[in-house]
Amino acid sequence: MYLPDFEYFSPDSVEEACQLLSKYGSKAKAIAGGTDVLVKMKSDLLAPEVLIGLGQLSPLKKIEYVPGKGVVIGSGVTHNEVRDSKVIQEKYMSVSQAAHHMANNQVRNRGTIGGNISNAVPSADMPPILISLGATATIVGTKGERTLPLEDVFAGPNVTVLEQDEIITEFVIPDGNFTGSTYMKFGLRASGALAVVGVAAAVQVEDGVIKDARIVLGAVSPTPVRAKKAESFLKDKQASEELFAEAGVIASGECKPISDIRASAEYRKDMVRVFTKRALDAAVNKGHV
Ligand SMILES: Cc1cc2nc3c(=O)[nH]c(=O)nc-3n(C[C@H](O)[C@H](O)[C@H](O)COP(=O)(O)OP(=O)(O)OC[C@H]3O[C@@H](n4cnc5c(N)ncnc54)[C@H](O)[C@@H]3O)c2cc1C
Repeated sequence: MYLPDFEYFSPDSVEEACQLLSKYGSKAKAIAGGTDVLVKMKSDLLAPEVLIGLGQLSPLKKIEYVPGKGVVIGSGVTHNEVRDSKVIQEKYMSVSQAAHHMANNQVRNRGTIGGNISNAVPSADMPPILISLGATATIVGTKGERTLPLEDVFAGPNVTVLEQDEIITEFVIPDGNFTGSTYMKFGLRASGALAVVGVAAAVQVEDGVIKDARIVLGAVSPTPVRAKKAESFLKDKQASEELFAEAGVIASGECKPISDIRASAEYRKDMVRVFTKRALDAAVNKGHV
């Protein structure tokens, strides 16, 4: 469990980080909190010759609300910083709560939201809630900047659409009309366990009628997936427990889980049914996003 040899760079700017990633190509890897990269290196699963540290880049550490734009979360913000941020708690308590329910305190202190997204692990906890709220990712490389809906960043298990010289700089949760949102994680232990199933729901409810709903399923497909048929089903209907249960059945038909050491595909599908119902109930009835 020793780290292999590597060269380490600590760039002073995002531009320099991208140039280094471009210069060293496939020999190089960006590292933020290192809770994934270093574990893989110690386990001989990864052996980059060059590590490009993103930890000193202050533009990646911001959390702010920009009127007309939304809540901006730098990719280098740690999970505990997401959890404790007053800006995030005031605007999106559900995001703060999702950060609180992942990993353990040590990992939350080091692990970043950018690393969580860039890893593209299907069971990751932050993608579902951020996608449900319509978040975008800002990606910077040597050729410039681009902004993508977060759901379009994922290309498959552990694969994103990022080029070798690109990093994610920030996520933006745009101002929306959601009246409630939540992320529900089902793991095999109460804490510190990866999600067997994760379901995020964001809803806009007026006079008891669901005007808009976004449901995002984690750990049950190669990438986080919107349950779009369930979302359409809910539109313009009176919110009720029966309606949420029906939406859960529809959502369970919209995922493609695998069987692995943590659960069978059939069990995961059934948990999607159960947790979609619960997530909708919570999002509709808790009275805040
Ligand atoms: C014990 C333990 C428990 C865990 N529990 C959970 C859990 O419950 N839920 C969960 O979702 N995850 C969990 N994880 C996984 C991991 O800790 C998180 O995904 C974490 O957020 C990764 O962030 P990091 O900054 O440490 O990433 P790093 O290890 O630094 O990097 C991870 C990957 O992202 C890339 N990267 C990092 N930042 C950027 C960027 N800004 N732009 C482009 N690429 C970037 C790196 O090159 C690397 O490929 C756990 C890990 C451990 C070790």
